[in-house]
Amino acid sequence: MLNIVLFGPPGAGKGTQSELIVKQHGLLHLSTGELFRKHLGEGTDLGKLAQGYMDQGNLVPDAVVIKMVEDRIATASKVNGFIFDGFPRTVNQALALDQMLLTHDLSITSMLSLEVEASELRLRLRERGKTSGRKDDQDNIKIENRIKVYNEETRPVADYYKDQNKYTSIKGVGSVASIFQLITHELEAFK
Ligand code: ADP
Repeated sequence: MLNIVLFGPPGAGKGTQSELIVKQHGLLHLSTGELFRKHLGEGTDLGKLAQGYMDQGNLVPDAVVIKMVEDRIATASKVNGFIFDGFPRTVNQALALDQMLLTHDLSITSMLSLEVEASELRLRLRERGKTSGRKDDQDNIKIENRIKVYNEETRPVADYYKDQNKYTSIKGVGSVASIFQLITHELEAFK
């Protein structure tokens, strides 16, 4: 199994690249942001709980996210592996992910980190906000908060994987196709 953490700040292109990876490599895409937005759309209790945090660009509490991911992994039928997008976002979540994979006799193969500087992220998120309908993309204060939360709470997750020699940096600026080529090159090495 190939279990990949696709990492990077908001607007780095994780969702876009995940779709391409899924098509080519047949992995199951597990995006916590998408799962939360689905719950929000369906008006579930979990969606209602997450909404306030998401709209402000804050993190949903670890326990809530971890439970949701556990459930998703447990209900996944035979897959070649997972691509984790937007998770783990805290070191606590990274520890929990290792634990839950272990109970299925699995582990993370590698983290691929999309590197994009903050000025480019701001431009991309504002542009996306024009069409995404996402409240967290439409307001500069919320965008700034997400970048701040990323720097303070999420960036340390990269060190967690660096310490395990599972970290690979990918330049996240260029055409979608050229970035996908870099990712594919890395993934081939794990096969
Ligand atoms: P982006 O990467 O563009 O910021 P996501 O779609 O990954 O957006 O996530 C949207 C929001 O969902 C986050 O700002 C946060 O509120 C919530 N969220 C998603 N994943 C997590 C997570 N692993 N831990 C806590 N909150 C999360």
